[in-house]
Amino acid sequence: MLRLPAFRVARPRTVDEVCALLAEHGARARVVAGGTDLLPNLKHELYDIDVLVALSDVDELRGVRAGESGGLSIGAATTLAEVAASELVRERAPVLAQACGLVAGPQHRTMGTLGGNVMLDTRCQWINQSYFWRQALGFCLKKDGTLCHVVQGGQKCVAAASNDSAPALTSLNATLAFQSSAGRRALPIEELWRADGIWNKVTGPEDLLVSIEVPAQVAGHRGAYGKLRDRGSIDFPLLGVAVRLDCDDREAVVDADVVLVALQARPVRVKHVSDALRGAVLGTDAFAEAVEEAARLAHKQCHPLPNIPGDPDYRRAMIPVYVRRTLRAAAERGGPVHHL
Ligand SMILES: Cc1cc2nc3c(=O)[nH]c(=O)nc-3n(C[C@H](O)[C@H](O)[C@H](O)COP(=O)(O)OP(=O)(O)OC[C@H]3O[C@@H](n4cnc5c(N)ncnc54)[C@H](O)[C@@H]3O)c2cc1C
Ligand code: SF4
Repeated sequence: MLRLPAFRVARPRTVDEVCALLAEHGARARVVAGGTDLLPNLKHELYDIDVLVALSDVDELRGVRAGESGGLSIGAATTLAEVAASELVRERAPVLAQACGLVAGPQHRTMGTLGGNVMLDTRCQWINQSYFWRQALGFCLKKDGTLCHVVQGGQKCVAAASNDSAPALTSLNATLAFQSSAGRRALPIEELWRADGIWNKVTGPEDLLVSIEVPAQVAGHRGAYGKLRDRGSIDFPLLGVAVRLDCDDREAVVDADVVLVALQARPVRVKHVSDALRGAVLGTDAFAEAVEEAARLAHKQCHPLPNIPGDPDYRRAMIPVYVRRTLRAAAERGGPVHHL
């Protein structure tokens, strides 16, 4: 049986109290929201901490609110189940509701939060293992070692961003509100990520994610999420595909976005997708051809590594399949796309 290390749990009641604790303890403290990822990682001895700062008593971090002029403001400690079931989210940001509804299994979504999902650590089949298992391999760059088992001779960790909400929020151009003892700041989600699997975010241990702000989408907005995974009931993505299609009143595409996760340390936005789809009217041959072009672009630009489970060649072959299916689903206001 894997045991948790010894630590103290602090139970602040306000955001200011959380930030004061994070400032006091620095890298020796971690925020715990639902604990669905943090606690397994602590059992695997991936973090050296003294204090867990629990968010469960901080009421101001919870809830989905209608944002200004049609957007959404979601408290970081709102559970994934609440986000997935919210009529406001389903109506205004269907890709986010679908992505949150496909995270892990029902128990994880009941405990797990949107903030915890955004701030999720990267994953790799060589790191999400017990200390004993990792030791047998001589550890690795991300924790306790000097080697990478994915890229031989590699000097950079390429563990994969594996959070389903990340590509969804990126496709929606969300902004994240962080607070620390130095004050509050807004960060476009695109600027959160770094291409470094050891810590793939620009934020530090003193930064608390307070809320996720989704801007108003255009009237003809459509979105969908596609997820490839081993077990339909519970697994992390082998591939996650978030799609945004913005259409005018003739149902012609005016803008589009496709963002993938579970490839490298940061979510990957497929380039030139909007150019391929712009002007195509939904349901026409031109749209079908544009979807094929978007799928081709994604296949050309994305190269899965043997960082997470699942054969990389198979995962790459699935990229155009999931991009195609998810774009079609979005066009029909359907989704999510996943196999069971
Ligand atoms: C079997 C299993 C399957 C899973 N499958 C999936 C999956 O399919 N897709 C997926 O995306 N995830 C999956 N997860 C991981 C996890 O359940 C989810 O990502 C969940 O959303 C994490 O949220 P949490 O509130 O439990 O975060 P926690 O575990 O509490 O925290 C996760 C990380 O975020 C930090 N954090 C939390 N809240 C904040 C905040 N407000 N500000 C700053 N930092 C914060 C913590 O310090 C920690 O580093 C799975 C986990 C398990 C055990
Ligand atoms: S990518 Fe390399 S360094 Fe990073 S966790 Fe995996 S094996 Fe370790």
